[in-house]
Amino acid sequence: MRAEHHVATFGADGGELVVGGVPLRRLADRVGSTPFFAYDRSLLDRRLDELRAALPGRLQLGYAVKANPMPAVVQHVARRVDWLDVASAHEMQVALDTGTATARVSFAGPGKTTTELVQAVAAGVLVEVESVGELDRLVLAGERVGVRPRAALRVNPDFAVRGSGMRMGGGPQQFGIDAEEVPGVLSDAADRDVDLLGFHVFAGSQNLSADLLVTAHTHTVELLLRLADKATQPVTYLNLGGGIGIPYFEKDEPVDLARVGAHLADLLSAEVAPALPDADVVLELGRYVVGECGVYVSRVVDVKRSRGQRYVVVDGGLHHHLAATGNFGQVIRRNYPLVVGDRLDPGAREPAHVVGCLCTPLDLLGSDVELPEVEVDDLVVVFQSGAYGATASPADFLGHPPAREVLV
Ligand SMILES: *Cc1c(COP(=O)(O)O)cnc(C)c1O
Repeated sequence: MRAEHHVATFGADGGELVVGGVPLRRLADRVGSTPFFAYDRSLLDRRLDELRAALPGRLQLGYAVKANPMPAVVQHVARRVDWLDVASAHEMQVALDTGTATARVSFAGPGKTTTELVQAVAAGVLVEVESVGELDRLVLAGERVGVRPRAALRVNPDFAVRGSGMRMGGGPQQFGIDAEEVPGVLSDAADRDVDLLGFHVFAGSQNLSADLLVTAHTHTVELLLRLADKATQPVTYLNLGGGIGIPYFEKDEPVDLARVGAHLADLLSAEVAPALPDADVVLELGRYVVGECGVYVSRVVDVKRSRGQRYVVVDGGLHHHLAATGNFGQVIRRNYPLVVGDRLDPGAREPAHVVGCLCTPLDLLGSDVELPEVEVDDLVVVFQSGAYGATASPADFLGHPPAREVLV
């Protein structure tokens, strides 16, 4: 989608972008220094309302904290979702600090240390087990703290989800237990000291195709019900993963959420309810919840020309927002939508490259972007920056100050 679409979503006032009801320059003054990430609380709420409206009432919503672990954001989201999904002991602490019931916190991710397992079991969170070895260590952790662990098996599915920006299931994987091994693991675990409550599949991220998501959800439910049939304990938890993407690039279109939701409603009533009427069925989302509510704001430090090309140099860059520079696993580098946030008025536009302040050509926020006349101190705004920003970037590289973060 084009940058104008995002300007309209946030709103503008007198040629300035408005974030959380505050015009950009005033917001920058209030934050005190650039660069910063700002997350718009009302857009966050709007997104959560849209999700609830589109998804079947029976489906529980989880928030994957790693997408944006800023405590104020997690606190805000926690009151509006059913589960928090964490991937480290630190994220678990952030989640528990929100007051979310420990039974509504799930802990996924490969390489959980024994210390982390002990902490998770002691807290009573649901551990999503990634391997047979981890299950062994989880049982030992339970013995150590004298608490029977609550767990689910993360399953590496016997199918792959096409269309995902990042694939995390199908074929050989570091994630989860291969689907064909699960029945054996279940029978081995039958008389061990662990509550195996159900299953988790997370097969891919950043998928924009409703068709492919619908297919993935169909396969996921079919697989999980097949495995639930082999369970030796009552199955009360089915986590279908998520993977709903957001439109980062000009040609991307938003996911047809109504279609995904209607299909999930059909699956739940036709397939899940007859087999497991009381199970908690969870969809866990990260970037779809927070990605579109956030902007990254940096200040122009220099404007220069080199052999006919215009370069706008800002005080931020790759060290705060790796993904926006195309270095977070992207195969092809494309521009995130960006604007000069204090010069939105219509007028002549000319191409420019927007580069960060790091001494590497990788630090490129915008290549050949149509921008107005730009001066030092103008504020460049990168949209779609609410997820995988500050904490997914190498903040120490070159030793510039970290970006501030505000929820407005
Ligand atoms: C990262 C992750 C998510 C969130 O992915 P998004 O693309 O941000 O929605 C969900 N579940 C698990 C297990 C993850 O590791």
